Amino acid sequence: MQRPPDLRAPLAATPYSGQLQAGFRWLRFSPALEGEYRDAGMQTLRTRMRWASVLALAIWAGFSLFDLWRIPTFAAGTPEQAVAMSLRAVRVAVTVALLAAVLCSHARWRFAVLHTAFTVVVAALACGSAYSVYAYKLMALPDETSVLVLVMLAIFMPLGLSVYSQLAVAVLYVAAVEVMALSAPLAPVGEAMLRIGVVLTLSLVVLAFGAYWREYLQREQFLLRGDMHWMAMRDALTGLFNRRMFTYHLERAMRQAQRDARSLALLLIDIDHFKRYNDHHGHPAGDMVLQQVAAAVARSAARPLDMAVRLGGEEFALVLYDCDAAHAHHAGGALVDAVAQLALAHPNSPVAPFVTVSTGCAMLRPGERPEDLYTRADEALYGAKTAGRNRCHGPQRVPSAEVSL
Ligand code: GH3
Ligand code: MG
Ligand code: MG
Repeated sequence: MQRPPDLRAPLAATPYSGQLQAGFRWLRFSPALEGEYRDAGMQTLRTRMRWASVLALAIWAGFSLFDLWRIPTFAAGTPEQAVAMSLRAVRVAVTVALLAAVLCSHARWRFAVLHTAFTVVVAALACGSAYSVYAYKLMALPDETSVLVLVMLAIFMPLGLSVYSQLAVAVLYVAAVEVMALSAPLAPVGEAMLRIGVVLTLSLVVLAFGAYWREYLQREQFLLRGDMHWMAMRDALTGLFNRRMFTYHLERAMRQAQRDARSLALLLIDIDHFKRYNDHHGHPAGDMVLQQVAAAVARSAARPLDMAVRLGGEEFALVLYDCDAAHAHHAGGALVDAVAQLALAHPNSPVAPFVTVSTGCAMLRPGERPEDLYTRADEALYGAKTAGRNRCHGPQRVPSAEVSL
């Protein structure tokens, strides 16, 4: 038996669920979401960069002091003296890099800049550690080669670096060890560095695998959290903000407007004779109309503190911040026109052969409560309905706006 076609309007997809469906195998989201993900990780990166650098600085300073105590004074011009001097230079360079990292973690830089700076510091620390072990060997001082494996572990710690940066640092680190192995002037030192190079390569593979999954799960958590948050704030059918967010936002926007002495307009929008539309075309077709009208309402809320809302059923609201009465009335009229121009056939409507909306608009008055503003916008909407629908009424204080469009 053939299945009936599915006429239900698809629910508004959230950007997060879209990304979850599209996948992110390469640990990259769409540009907008990637930006949001980075913004969300900014504070984590700062904090981890700061504390990891302070810890590394303490350990590094300990080794540097240890050097002062245990590296003997070699005769001038000997290879050992040259090695001791270059080790000192490395100790100073890495100390400066770590200090810079602590300072940079306070800077108001963009994520990409801060992340790159931290990657460079971690790379300097890793290569500096490799060079320290190499130098000890060349100076025939006892050393603990396995400390290099600990450094490899540290690169892959959740410090706030992306897997790609961790991989880049780890590969550079292994390459540095191999270069030292191949260029060692003493054969036993070269062999020892080569052996540790092999162990480091193996640990890199294992740790990179773990780091990939950690970042993957972290990104997945971000999307799931974002999805839940989005659904709590939005209407599922139209993707507009829901009544809960409207109540929350209107109150805050009103306080902000009163403090900054800015104007604020509230527009209520209602589809005309929508019950008749449903009765004629069916509920699924009605849902699609709701989506198209919602898109028109959304286009009217262009600025950051504006908000387009589906209040419920076939009723919508627009909060327009810093918008005077003339503009508010114009926006209401433009919305009425925009819906008419969608030309969605509505043969049962006594107003027009297409779907129309009525709009009521009210301007915020000093000291007013949200419910008072809402009541006045609702009265204006009622006025638009009784005056024949397919028009915008209000705001009350603009004489020309009293006249219906
Ligand atoms: P008026 O011009 O006076 O506003 O008349 P109206 O028919 O639009 O108003 P009424 O309040 O009588 O009917 C609203 C209709 O909206 C009734 C209901 O079937 C429809 N409606 C509410 N929510 C939804 C929805 O989610 N989907 C669909 N398709 N219809 C809905
Ligand atoms: Mg209604
Ligand atoms: Mg209606």
